Amino acid sequence: MIILLFGKPGAGKGTQAPLLAAALGVPTLATGDELRAAIRKGTPLGLEAKSYMDRGDLVPDAVILGIIKAALSEPRNARGVLLDGVVRTVPQAEGLSAVAEELGMKIKAVLVFDIDDEEIVRRLADRVVCDTCQTPYTGREPGTLCDKDGGVLVRRKDDEPEAIRNRLAVYQRQTAPVLDWYRQHGTRVAVIDAVGSVQDVSARALGALAG
Ligand code: AMP
Repeated sequence: MIILLFGKPGAGKGTQAPLLAAALGVPTLATGDELRAAIRKGTPLGLEAKSYMDRGDLVPDAVILGIIKAALSEPRNARGVLLDGVVRTVPQAEGLSAVAEELGMKIKAVLVFDIDDEEIVRRLADRVVCDTCQTPYTGREPGTLCDKDGGVLVRRKDDEPEAIRNRLAVYQRQTAPVLDWYRQHGTRVAVIDAVGSVQDVSARALGALAG
């Protein structure tokens, strides 16, 4: 069972993913987290991805499909996985479908976190993330420590205003059309209101997935 968490940057996918994963008993895969980890380690994947990410552009589909294929083939993901921030283009949707079919996994639903651009800009201007486990926080100062693992909270380079504007434009141009692709291919697309407390949004998400 594969569930896709979908929505603009800053919609709350990264906050909700671990909560929903715990409630559903499946692991998560966030391509953004995988790529940032590769950048920190200085691997060839990280070197290739960095300039795209810093500008707020999408990393090439072939790179993303390589990550998805490797992750879905891991035994720990065999029962199912929650994909956070995947997929972001129609070719990725097509590629994921092919991999899922090969592995006998079904794409159960696309869960869309709905939020307007003004709220996104407000949230991201105030976001810091743990530089080791990537947990996002708002209302915390950079340089303070993560509640989960004591890592240092930092601003993401792509949360600067220019990169945010580009990421929202990229979402409209390349990512939003993915929803119609899933609707046309018979996958359930559930849209939930992403504004509210973390608990309320989780409850809406779980309700939508159960319905
Ligand atoms: P995120 O952490 O999901 O906001 O992703 C941060 C950045 O990683 C994005 O702005 C892209 O540059 C890159 N990225 C993450 N996931 C994908 C994907 N599925 N397709 C293309 N680029 C991605």
